[in-house]
Amino acid sequence: MANITNGKVVSMHYTLKDASGKEMDSSAKGDPLSYLHGVGQIVPGLEKEIEGMNVGDKKNVIVQPKDGYGEVNPDLRQSVDRSMFPKEQALQEGMQFGAELASGDQVIFTIKKIETDKVHIDGNHPLAGQTLHFDIEIVEVRDATEEEIEHGHVHGPGGHHH
Ligand code: ZN
Repeated sequence: MANITNGKVVSMHYTLKDASGKEMDSSAKGDPLSYLHGVGQIVPGLEKEIEGMNVGDKKNVIVQPKDGYGEVNPDLRQSVDRSMFPKEQALQEGMQFGAELASGDQVIFTIKKIETDKVHIDGNHPLAGQTLHFDIEIVEVRDATEEEIEHGHVHGPGGHHH
């Protein structure tokens, strides 16, 4: 059996629910998710629990925010003047845009609410502050190719094509 260790390509089906049991995301209707184990392609709390699993194994994994998408950072919730955006650009709630912080970090902001001359934006990951409940099933484990390890991602089905 191919136990999952660093340098393996893992394909799994997963369902992600929040603490109230609401489904946030799932691979059930499509292809399994493939990722390269050990390089932080998935949240750390989930990657740690998958270590050592085998094909066919199923697991419920509960990931606390600090091992998931982080705690909510209130500094990333701001209201800015409408004039910060190009006049001709139609703004909508739910729209996302990238911005660079004073620290140099790139952050994706989501428009939460639009008032006449104010736009409320949030740069937190939509799942920040959430306890994540994963149901996972490992469907395939294989050795990564040298090229995949070099690139830090999976090639072929479920991965990058280039
Ligand atoms: Zn590549």
